[in-house]
Amino acid sequence: MSTTLTGAPVSPGRAAGPAVTMPAPVPEPRTSRLSTTEVDGAVERLGLAARAVRDELTERAAAATGTAADLLAVTAAMAADPALTADAERRIRVDRLTPERAIWDASRGMARQLEKIGPPLSERARDLRDVRDRIVAELIGVRPPGVPRPDHPFVLVGDDLAPADTATLDPAVVLGIVTSGGGPTSHTAILARALGIPAVVAVRGAADIDDGETILLDGGAGVVVRDPDPATAAAAQQREATRRAFDGSGRTADGTRVELLANVADPAGAQAAIEAGAEGVGLFRTEFSFLGRGAEPAVSEQVAAYRRVLSAFGGRKVVVRTLDAGADKPLPFVTADGEPNPALGVRGIRTADRRPGVLDRQLQAIAAATEAENAHVWVMAPMISTAGETADFVAACARHGLNTAGVMIEVPAAALRAESIFAHAAFGSLGTNDLIQYTMASDRMLGELAGLQSPWQPAVLDLVRLACEGAAVHDRPVGVCGEAAADATLAPVLVGLGVRSLSMTPRALADVAAVLQRVDLDRCRELADLALGSDDPIAARRAVRDAIRPVLTDLGL
Ligand code: PEP
Ligand code: MG
Repeated sequence: MSTTLTGAPVSPGRAAGPAVTMPAPVPEPRTSRLSTTEVDGAVERLGLAARAVRDELTERAAAATGTAADLLAVTAAMAADPALTADAERRIRVDRLTPERAIWDASRGMARQLEKIGPPLSERARDLRDVRDRIVAELIGVRPPGVPRPDHPFVLVGDDLAPADTATLDPAVVLGIVTSGGGPTSHTAILARALGIPAVVAVRGAADIDDGETILLDGGAGVVVRDPDPATAAAAQQREATRRAFDGSGRTADGTRVELLANVADPAGAQAAIEAGAEGVGLFRTEFSFLGRGAEPAVSEQVAAYRRVLSAFGGRKVVVRTLDAGADKPLPFVTADGEPNPALGVRGIRTADRRPGVLDRQLQAIAAATEAENAHVWVMAPMISTAGETADFVAACARHGLNTAGVMIEVPAAALRAESIFAHAAFGSLGTNDLIQYTMASDRMLGELAGLQSPWQPAVLDLVRLACEGAAVHDRPVGVCGEAAADATLAPVLVGLGVRSLSMTPRALADVAAVLQRVDLDRCRELADLALGSDDPIAARRAVRDAIRPVLTDLGL
C-alpha cells in the first residue's frame, strides 16, 4: 500500500526508482585486546583491508574527472601509505589492539601531526579520517562512508548530504534526493537544483525508508510516495524529454526589462549558464573554488580561476561576489573553528577585519581577471550590515579600479537601512537564502524549521520592498540572487516589489522567463500587494497562484 510523506520542495521534477540509503557514520571501534595467537591474523586482515580500500579508490579516481579525480587519487595514496599501516601494525603487535582500533589510533596520531604543521598539509587530516573510516568499514563489514555507488539508477535517501557528497553526485544515476534534514536554502538544496536532480528535503518519515524499496518523489510539490502504484512510477521514470527554451532577454508582458541571470560557482556552471541562454551572471560564488583549502590561494591561482568563468561571458555582466566564508561554508584560512553561533559570527565581509589582506588580494585578482577578459564585471560583498561597511568596501574596490561595487542585501539591517546603504553602493542583490534565515531566526540548515524558511513569508517580502524603495531613492538597481529567484510563481511578485534582475540556477531560467512574459508590470504590482496582504506564506503563494492560474496552467507549472 502506498504511503505519502511530505517535505520541503527544493528542486523540481518527478522521479521514481529504488531507494539507496546513505550509510550511517562508521562507529569508533572499542578498545579490546587480542590474544597472542590472534595477532598475526589481525596484521594480515589489516593489510588486506588497506589494499582493498586503496584499489577501490584508485579505480574510482581513474573513472572520475577534475577535482573529484584529484581528491580520490590523494585519498588512495593515503590508504597505501606504509607509515600509516606500519604504525597500526605496531599497535597490533605491541598493544595487541584489534586491527580496527589500531588503524583508528594510528590515524588519529597522524592527523594531529598534520594539523600541527598547518596549511596546506593540515587539509589532509580530513582525507586521512576518510581513509581510516573506509578501512574500519572494510574490517568490520559495514558500508563505507559517502554516497553509495550501486550499478543502477537510484533515489538517494539520507539524513542530509555533506557539500562534498553532493558535489560528486552524477545526475545520470541519481534520479532524485530525499533527505530528512536540510532546509530549502541549504547547500544540498542549492546543488541539487543546479544539477537538475529532483529533491525534497526535511521529509518527515524519510528515516524509515528502506534500501531497495521503490519511491516516487515530486520535487516541485514536496511529496514522496513509498511504494507508488506501478503506472505512476513508470510515468515519472520517463524523464522530461523536452524543455522550454529561454531566448536570452527577460521582460514582462509590457516590455519592462528584467535581466535573467545565472548563479555560477565554477567553469562548468558557467557553461551550463551559457547553454541555458543566461544574460550574464548575477552571482559568482567565488568561495566555491576554494572550499576545503587550508591556505589562501595565490593571487595568480585566483586570477586563473576567475578568468575561467569570465571568459565565457564576453560582453556580458558578471557579478563577482567576494569570499563568503563562514557558517555553512567554512574556509580555514579566514574563519575560526569553535564560534558558538557561526551564522552570526565572523563570516562574509566581516572576515575582512580579521584578515584585510585576503580581501585586498582577492580584489587584486578580480581586477587582473577583469583586465584580461571582456566581461562587464561588477563586484559585491556578502553579509553587509551597515552603511559604514558598504562605504569601506566600495572604497577598497575603487583602489583596485573596480568601479561598479555593490552589496548583498541578506541581513535584515541592510534592508531596513537601504537608503543609507545605497548612498554608497552602486547596486544591490538580495540574498534571500540568508535574508530568510536571519528574518525568521531560523537556521537554513535545519529541516525541522523548513516551514519558516519560505521566501513567501510576508516579513521577508516586506524587507524586499524596503530594500527596493531605499535603492530607488538613489536610482540604484536591485536584483535577487537567492533561491527565491528560481521560483517562477514568485518572480512576478518580486518584480512588482521593484526587483529588476533575477539570478538563478540555469535550469530555472526558461520557466521564470515564460511566466514574466505573460504578466505585465501593473499586474506584477497587484500580485505583490496580494502577497504582502497575506498573513502567512502558504496563503500568499495560494493567492498569487490563484490570480495567475491560467498562465501557470498553460505553462504546466
Ligand atoms: C543568499 O544568501 O541568498 C545567497 C545567495 O548567498 P549564499 O546562499 O551563498 O549564502
Ligand atoms: Mg548568503
